[in-house]
Amino acid sequence: MSVPFNNPLPIPVLGFCAYSGTGKTTLLKKLIPELNHRGLRLAVVKHAHHNFDVDIPGKDSYEMRKAGARQMLVASHVRWALMTEDPVEDAPELPHLLAQIEADKVDIVLVEGFKKLALPKIELHRAAHGKPFIHTHDDNIQAIACCDETELPSDLRRLDINDVGQIADFVIEYANNWRPCTPSLPLAPECGCELDTSKTLSVRQGIDKILSYVTPVSASEEVAIDDSTDRVLAEDAISPVDVPQHTNSAMDGFAFAYSDPMLASYTLVGDVMAGHSYQGTLKPGEAVRIMTGAPMPEGADTVQMKEMAEDRGDAVSFQGKISLGQHVRQAGEDIAKDHTALGAGNRLKAAHQGMLASLGFGRLPVYRRPKVAVFSTGDEVCQPGEPLKPNCIYDSNRFTIKSMVKQLGCEVIDLGIIEDSEAALIDALQGAAQQADVVISSGGVSVGDADFIKLALAKVGQINFWRINMRPGRPLAFGQIGDSLFFGLPGNPVAVMVSFMQFVQPALRKLAGELEWAPTLVPAIADCALRSRSGRTEFTRGIYHLGSDGRLHVTSTGAQGSGMLSSMVKGNCLIVIAEKDEQLNVGDTVYIQPFSDLL
Ligand code: AMP
Ligand code: MG
Repeated sequence: MSVPFNNPLPIPVLGFCAYSGTGKTTLLKKLIPELNHRGLRLAVVKHAHHNFDVDIPGKDSYEMRKAGARQMLVASHVRWALMTEDPVEDAPELPHLLAQIEADKVDIVLVEGFKKLALPKIELHRAAHGKPFIHTHDDNIQAIACCDETELPSDLRRLDINDVGQIADFVIEYANNWRPCTPSLPLAPECGCELDTSKTLSVRQGIDKILSYVTPVSASEEVAIDDSTDRVLAEDAISPVDVPQHTNSAMDGFAFAYSDPMLASYTLVGDVMAGHSYQGTLKPGEAVRIMTGAPMPEGADTVQMKEMAEDRGDAVSFQGKISLGQHVRQAGEDIAKDHTALGAGNRLKAAHQGMLASLGFGRLPVYRRPKVAVFSTGDEVCQPGEPLKPNCIYDSNRFTIKSMVKQLGCEVIDLGIIEDSEAALIDALQGAAQQADVVISSGGVSVGDADFIKLALAKVGQINFWRINMRPGRPLAFGQIGDSLFFGLPGNPVAVMVSFMQFVQPALRKLAGELEWAPTLVPAIADCALRSRSGRTEFTRGIYHLGSDGRLHVTSTGAQGSGMLSSMVKGNCLIVIAEKDEQLNVGDTVYIQPFSDLL
């Protein structure tokens, strides 16, 4: 049984676990320079089982610690070390130790030891040691580094324990794909706010309340793969074939049967091109010329690349170290026949469509599109394209909302601009709810707004008026009209977009049948100071870019007025300043939510 583990850092943590004697430290001593060489900055946490000391009797730091200093920090111009007397009964707590690491100075933390923690790990295994596997009872194993003779289940990522370069590749791939799993939209603030707390919610509470009302659509239809963009798959797609279909060569080179030791020379008995196969079985000592993607002949299990071979026409010799099975792609290693290639609940984008096409699917079962009715309110709001009346503004909200709704694969019903009158609004809401799964309005939900909007909403359904502890976009109305969900977004154009991204988006995704969606939140380094108010989530429009240090940096777009749509155009992300933060300084790590998720 593994012990739960929560990574407190905005960077990945990856463990290495093995039975003692497998060579964990030996491997790490080779892996660390390799990763450094490739630009990955590392911290390492090592679990020592005994009462160790890093200091030496006689040194000032040692004497002062022994004299009773609970913490002793010794520093020079090249390094510093903090020694803390922290006796605990069992193993030290890894999250506590990790919290001491300066996450802005490193890209990943490698952990040696802490085998029982549910932390993502690479297992090291040497068959010759005869020790049991760890992955058989630990779901957190991401890959196993072992020797050639070790037999493993096919779905476990296999690495060569003697190939440090390959293990480094995996660590870099892991670091690149890693996402923080705790969204930085924390739970309710514990602050004394001036607002009525029964109607004041944190962003997280608002999302949770809304999602509790959403029942995903169940009806589905079949569409051509070409028409499936942004739709949600309604049934698991089971692969009818192995991908690749045949075990084939990953290189242009020569295929043969591996032996230890290798022979000095192999007789060339043929050529295999992609799309063709070798008739017959290779005998020991025979080889064929083979092209990338061509099926491996019977009897061959290993490929050496052309560049590492001397082709003499009727025979070939190889240079370099050769290991069993190298440069061979196994049939089904990408997608195995009869396995789920893509699960129901996935939203279909280019990569999904390409993969399903590669399996031969021409049509796909998808959930029906949710229908979303959209209207604007306000006597001052005018239709773009028409002359602007005095003291009026053009409607922009309907256009941002419709575009985001379409981006989420929904059908839009545009109800235009509804005048500020109770009768007109009741009509619009009732009509909308009859045809749509979701009704979205903008404007008219602020405190002090004309009462008829609240009256109208109260007459047609059950609507709550909430104040969300966020900026922009504090007021939000949410409820039900008949079987439809209703969102009353604020009037200010930026507040509309931010509220849509935070509240409407998760609801529409769940309604559409999408499973396991969460906003993408990525850590970045603040290039400017950012202010907020404690107890409120601030969504500052930001511009992120890759710095020359190879890390993501973000800066504010400047003026943040909630009516300034230009800040959304200039920006490429929201900087999410959590409720607990008031002041973030240059160099601090912040979370950003890239627009590319939706806009
Ligand atoms: P309200 O909440 O209705 O008082 O609106 C707040 C602000 O947003 C006002 O300045 C409105 O003029 C503006 N506004 C409301 N609806 C729209 C809209 N559809 N497009 C652009 N601005 C709007
Ligand atoms: Mg208004």
